[in-house]
Amino acid sequence: MIIPIVAYGDPVLRKKAKEIPQDYPNLKELIDNMWESMYGAYGVGLAAPQVGLPIRIFMIDTSPFSEDIELSEDEQKELAGLKKVFINPKILEETGDEWAFNEGCLSIPEVREDVFRKPEIKIEYFDEDFNKHTEEYKGLAARVIQHEYDHIEGILFTDKLSSLKKRLIKGKLSNISKGKIQIDYRMKFPELKKGR
Ligand code: ZN
Repeated sequence: MIIPIVAYGDPVLRKKAKEIPQDYPNLKELIDNMWESMYGAYGVGLAAPQVGLPIRIFMIDTSPFSEDIELSEDEQKELAGLKKVFINPKILEETGDEWAFNEGCLSIPEVREDVFRKPEIKIEYFDEDFNKHTEEYKGLAARVIQHEYDHIEGILFTDKLSSLKKRLIKGKLSNISKGKIQIDYRMKFPELKKGR
């Protein structure tokens, strides 16, 4: 079942999400629905707050990036096979010199901006069977994880822009929260008046 993606402006996107217990009700169904919602919107990542739930789960599937011809063959291969659910994750380390990448977000359609992040991370998390893992990621894989991790911390990529950039996109963000955009996937808008 596709769950509408929560749009910019909804307070759920600003909450620090809570950890979940292993017996969280209908977890498998939620994860299935989140995959369906993510693929339905052509996303490479989705976090639970984006479907209205302030809990610490996100998922990524970086395979669309594996066709990027500017990446090395090794990196293409890594991105092709990277499909994972992260439950109760903790980023333990972020290292290296910050690099810019043009990011977008399913909750903020039609806005894309360069965001600076560190290139290497170490993360601890539980998979959908609640097995614990500690792994290291770099480059685009790390980038997608960092973006989704920010969601469960209540942070959006637009928070990381310069004040000038923020001013320039203010009108666009306001339109998104009011539902004044054209999109081809289901969304829920916080300020959309009923009956419109
Ligand atoms: Zn996002």
